[in-house]
This record gives sequence, structure tokens and C-alpha cells, in this order.
Amino acid sequence: MPTPTDWLKYDRDHIWHPYAAVHSDAPLWAVVGAEGAEIELADGRRLIDGMASWWSVIHGYRHPVLDKALKAQVDRFAHVMFGGLTHEPAVRLAQRLLQIVPDSLHHAFFADSGSVAVEVALKMAIQCWDGRGQPQRKAFLTIRNGYHGDTFGAMSVCDPENGMHTLFQGFLPSQYFAPAPPLRNEPDDGSALEAFEQQLQRHGDEIAAVILEPIVQGAGGMRIYRPEYLREVAALCRRYDTLLILDEIATGFGRTGELFGCHHADVEPDIMCVGKALTGGYMTLAATLVSDEVATDICRSDAGALMHGPTFMANPLACSVALASIDLLLAQDWQARVQTMEQQISHGLAPCRDLPIVRDVRVIGSIGVVELTTNELPPGLQESLVAAGVWIRPFRNLVYIMPPYVIRDEQLPVLTGAIFAVLSNLQSTRGDNPP
Ligand code: PMP
Repeated sequence: MPTPTDWLKYDRDHIWHPYAAVHSDAPLWAVVGAEGAEIELADGRRLIDGMASWWSVIHGYRHPVLDKALKAQVDRFAHVMFGGLTHEPAVRLAQRLLQIVPDSLHHAFFADSGSVAVEVALKMAIQCWDGRGQPQRKAFLTIRNGYHGDTFGAMSVCDPENGMHTLFQGFLPSQYFAPAPPLRNEPDDGSALEAFEQQLQRHGDEIAAVILEPIVQGAGGMRIYRPEYLREVAALCRRYDTLLILDEIATGFGRTGELFGCHHADVEPDIMCVGKALTGGYMTLAATLVSDEVATDICRSDAGALMHGPTFMANPLACSVALASIDLLLAQDWQARVQTMEQQISHGLAPCRDLPIVRDVRVIGSIGVVELTTNELPPGLQESLVAAGVWIRPFRNLVYIMPPYVIRDEQLPVLTGAIFAVLSNLQSTRGDNPP
């Protein structure tokens, strides 16, 4: 029987990992189990999970309610095509989603990943303007430091500097960018919003929609900005008659302390993308939700229909587990839970503020971010965190956590404590060995 050492070797030789080189010598850990907020490694170590598998596993691993929903659907049918057929899991999930998102949204498109949900949103906006007799409106306005996925349309609206624009230049559609709004704890002189409005003034007749992540910009910098900015952006979209797409793929399902990021600002988008925690992180599924007005105008376009239809659209297993995950979330006082996590994370990360290597500590809902003064991650950081018993995957100069909501009160301080310990240790090692 192959041992974990054998798989690791095969993996190294043949399998790509996210944003990785083949034959990379970057550390890689073999997982043999996961339960609650813990990940079990092949060598027997159990790590406390600070990542919820990239924002998605909100109820933790092996949740009995989600396991049951998935098994029950396997016993009915795992998949049928969605062209010309439908099923109860898709219908019930659409009903539930449309009950909990802003009232402006009336129709659901089930996509197979977050990036695809963003592609669908972009297509919807372009087709909507085609239906409205303005087919020249094919560009998008967004803010810097955004992240919307790795497919081409999505990449084109990611931050032009920390995204992949240079690499794919000549192939990526070019879009309009406004400065990122100031962080919530920075002064706001209004210039970011002014620049945003200027883009609408200058290019409004080419712009199909504005797309942004509400309240927290995730992979483009883990930036928390003020609800007022989002409110003003939504008002400007109305004033300049353009559509508003909110990418709630990372912010949805309670993560920021409100059910969706847009609830912080009482903003109602024309199109909204959800994904990640939609299935409680059990499997891939995303959805693009759209207003009745936009949906109607899409169908007036030359195509007469929305031109997208993936093979695994509305996969019944994914829809069943998503419905169970949303019901599980809503059945508990999730907001109180996230607030408690916010307090614990703020308290646990506060000492990091005193470390010279730390530029900023920011917390919202169950997201905690430590931004370092360096441009890159100090070498060995990931290994040190694993050695400290936690699974935290920093990127660029950001060490951040977004644990499963089921993390226990005694586990959360282990995460924040490990960040502090590892960063302080780094500090003292640096002090001992000046560059
Ligand atoms: N939008 C946002 C805001 C995201 O954070 C992500 C994933 N990190 C995506 C879109 C893309 O989702 P996926 O990885 O499922 O394609």
C-alpha cells in the first residue's frame, strides 16, 4: 500500500498546486483527516485551522449535518445535466438564497466556481446593455487591490499591479481602475471617491458595470474599507446609470459580521456573486444572482438568452450540501458567534501591534490580518507556523486568519498566539543577525 511518503513524492513529480512551480521544493504537508477546526497530518500532528480552506469551511470539517445531507443526495442521484432538466436541491437552494440576499435580486445562475460566477456576472452586464440597445458598453470599472478570480475576465478586473495583468498583457481585456478606498483606520480626504466618479464621467458610455468586493478586499490585499465608500459607489452607479456587481464570494455567509458584506452599507446590487462558504466548503459551487430588470434585458439581447451553461451546473450534491449549510448557519445565532470571534481575534492579535515588523493589524468579523513592514514574507514563516501547531497560509506581506466558526474558545487563542510567537521570534532572530 502506498504510504504518504510515496504520495508526496508522486505529487511533487506530477501534480500542480495553486500558483506553484512543478518540481517545487516549497513545503507540502500530506493530510489524512480533518474534523471540526483541526486538520490531521500524515505524521500524526493535528493543526488548528486558521484558513477554513480559503474562507469556505465555515462549519468545520466533517459536520454531521452536512455529511448527512450529502449522503442522502448520493442515495438519490449525484448529478443530472441542467439543460432541460431540474431538481429539488437546485430549486430549494435558489429559493433560500433569494430569501437571504438583498431584495433587488430575483434570479439565480449556478456556476461551478467563484471565478466562473464572476465571468457569468460580466457576461450578464454586457448582454444586458446589448439588450438595452447600447452594445458598446463592454468595459468594467473597478477599484485597485481587488481580486475576482483567475479566469481571463475575472483576472482583467483584478488589481493591475498585484494581479496577473503584465503576464497576460495583450490577451486580457483592458478595464478602468479607480484608486482603492482608504483603509477604515486611515483618514479619508474623499479623493478616492472623486477619482472613481471621474472615471464614470469620462467613460460611462463604455462601462457595462462596476465590480468590487464589498467592505473587505480579500486576496488583493486583505483591506477593510468604510461602508460609506460602498454606499457612495452604489449611489454613483445609479446616478451614472451603470450596473453594480458585488463579488461576495469571500465576504458572504457571515464572515464580516453581517450575512453579506453589502449589509454593512445597506446597498442593493444589480448582480451579486457568491461561492466559497456557499457549500460550507464541502465542494465547489457558486452562484450569480441578478435583478429581474437586468435578467429581462439580457433576454432582449441579440442572443435572446444568457450565453453560459456548464456541464456541472447546479450539481445536486453541491446544491444539497449548500442548502444544509445555509440552514445550519441561519439556525444558530451566527452573528453573536462571529462577534465573539471578532473580540477574541482582536484581543489575540493586539500584541502584534508592538512588533517592529508589523505595519498594521486589522480585524473585522471573523477575519484577522497582520500586515508586515516587509514587501515579502520572511523565509520559513509557513514552516514555523506549522511547527507551532496551526494551519495559516500567509501571502505577500500578510499573515491572516479566517477560522471555521466552530473553532473552540480554547483553539482560537492558539492561532493568534502562534502568529505573535512566530513573528516575535523572527524579530529576535533578525535582531541577532543584522542583514
Ligand atoms: N472572488 C473573490 C472575492 C475571491 O476571493 C475568489 C477566490 N479567492 C474568487 C472570486 C474566485 O473564486 P474561485 O477560486 O472559486 O474561482
